[in-house]
Amino acid sequence: MTVLAVDLGGSHVSCALVEDARLIACESFPVARDQSLTAVLPQIEQILERLRTRDDRKEECEAVALSFCGLVDPGRKTVTAANGKYLDSASVDLNAWARARLNLPLFLENDARTALLGERFAGAGRGFDDVVTITLGSGVGGAAMIAGRLIRGKHFQAGCLGGHFVVDYHGRRCTCGNVGCLEAEASTWSLPTMAANHPAFAEITLRQAEDITFATVFPLAQAGDECAMGLRDACLRAWGAGCVSLIHAYDPEVLIIGGGVMAAADQILPEMERYIHAHAWTPWGKVCVRAAELGNHASLFGAIPLCQERLC
Ligand SMILES: [Zn+2]
Repeated sequence: MTVLAVDLGGSHVSCALVEDARLIACESFPVARDQSLTAVLPQIEQILERLRTRDDRKEECEAVALSFCGLVDPGRKTVTAANGKYLDSASVDLNAWARARLNLPLFLENDARTALLGERFAGAGRGFDDVVTITLGSGVGGAAMIAGRLIRGKHFQAGCLGGHFVVDYHGRRCTCGNVGCLEAEASTWSLPTMAANHPAFAEITLRQAEDITFATVFPLAQAGDECAMGLRDACLRAWGAGCVSLIHAYDPEVLIIGGGVMAAADQILPEMERYIHAHAWTPWGKVCVRAAELGNHASLFGAIPLCQERLC
């Protein structure tokens, strides 16, 4: 099967020509935070046209699979909640766009779900039917699959809100309005506040860092910086607690951890595995804990299983 794949992320758009488990060609471009969907569609269209005319593939393309960084209704092919990005997206008729501009059927899904589909199709989830993913990055995202089927729920948010599982009900205010959510306690956006509130922040190297991100925290923690070690350990505990709740909620065989923060997978993965095996109640055995394998391309690889699911 050959399809066109689009991953509409908050900071980048990636477009690809995908044939089974192979990305034949891929192009990305950055988008401004306040970019409208209407403004980027012509650029996407141009790239997709270029990709599918490569090697005379135009006739082979069966569909366009679009991953979106917000909640979507896959049946109606509409965006239901844009989550602060592409604010016009709920009013854009993407299905009509795909028909009119590309002459292809459209399949639309949340990007965390297509990333799970991709990892199961061509990455760390191969061979598993019960899969949970958690993505550690600017926020904390994820998705869940039970018995080979994505969990979507009545309002299309089931399985995707692991970042808003409460890990500390006395904790920080979250962007969602709740208190002590996993991403309010351990994510890139909450890290500068966590650092500023750390008692050792005034004396240490971390304060001199231009940006307080996990890319600065993990190496400094390894070098013995007290504040960085405190932040790292607090985040590892919060992520561990979140993973245990995901396992209790969805009963997976495999939990796949991805996202930009996993650049420090050597420090994160063993600790997650230890925490999960010590705290998750799984009397049948142990959940397999793996690092994601496909990085930023996971959603593009998810295009084929998404189309197959919707076509059958
Ligand atoms: Zn929240």
